[in-house]
Amino acid sequence: MIELTGVTKSFGTLEVLHDVDLTVPAGSVTVIIGPSGSGKSTLLRCINHLEKVDRGRVRVDGELIGYRRVGNKLHELSERHILKQRANIGFVFQTFNLFPHMTALQNVLEAVGKQAEPRGRELLARVGLADKVDAYPRQLSGGQQQRVAIARALALDPKLVLFDEPTSALDPELVGEVLDVMRDLAQAGTTMVVVTHEIGFAREVADTVVFLDEGRLVEQGPPSEVLDNPQHERTRAFLSKVL
Ligand code: ADP
Ligand code: MG
Repeated sequence: MIELTGVTKSFGTLEVLHDVDLTVPAGSVTVIIGPSGSGKSTLLRCINHLEKVDRGRVRVDGELIGYRRVGNKLHELSERHILKQRANIGFVFQTFNLFPHMTALQNVLEAVGKQAEPRGRELLARVGLADKVDAYPRQLSGGQQQRVAIARALALDPKLVLFDEPTSALDPELVGEVLDVMRDLAQAGTTMVVVTHEIGFAREVADTVVFLDEGRLVEQGPPSEVLDNPQHERTRAFLSKVL
């Protein structure tokens, strides 16, 4: 479903991603772990072209993201085409990013329009918020707001959903309800890439765990290998801090 080849990205003179290759099969869950500043968010943002890669390619469902090939040259797609590609890729942010003046249901329908209201209600029910459709974000807990954000990410029926530290801004007692929703999505076969420090979730739900350090993909494999038997010293050092 996702194929990154040789993805390299710099901000000024700072190289944030170095030659990253990553394949995410349809229906699988990939968890990305790594220290703060290692490039995790940038990697997610490159997948939906919120950041442009300097070198390398991003493909989603076989389609080149952000560019079209003309002869042997790549031309950046128009904004309209980029938005169309992005509609296939749900994105859940650390800070929810709901519209404060819209109800939960209006937030979910924001990108799809009113005609999708039955679907919006169904999605809110799916994340356990059937009774909160008319609540405004300020009337919801952080965990409820993040579940609205997940319902919103699903509204366009995306081919995959990217999560950038979806529980990092939550009080500890609210983390579980969001992880439960994510676990349900995974069980339903949603293709997911999740940046998180929730190692328990990674161990239980991930098909693949990827360790990123200083913009390099240091290690990847099933949780039983990367988390329980890491091959690299840097992975071991990181895990000893978060476990
Ligand atoms: P992580 O999500 O792993 O904490 P990020 O991908 O957010 O890491 O950032 C990786 C590095 O890139 C950091 O050093 C960060 O300061 C830098 N960075 C991220 N976005 C920008 C930007 N828009 N402009 C300049 N530097 C950035
Ligand atoms: Mg980040």
